[in-house]
Amino acid sequence: MNKLNIFNIYAGDFYQINENQFDALDDGQLPLIKLPKSCKKCYSRGYVGFSKTTYSFQLCTCVIKSLDKGRLDAKFNIQSKGD
Ligand SMILES: [Zn+2]
Repeated sequence: MNKLNIFNIYAGDFYQINENQFDALDDGQLPLIKLPKSCKKCYSRGYVGFSKTTYSFQLCTCVIKSLDKGRLDAKFNIQSKGD
């Protein structure tokens, strides 16, 4: 089973899941193509602050650059077909 790296914007944490679990996750869990390398901006935490408006962590550019956009697009296309 392939592993997928995830950044959770509500927990401010990186972790790995099995690839086939991804579609069941909520929208706050972002798929990454690869884990960001050591980063001076966020000290490799993946976030640069916390938003009290959205109660989520503000992504560092190192995470934004690592996002698996193809996988995100596919997930949101699937969800929007439902309504
Ligand atoms: Zn960073």
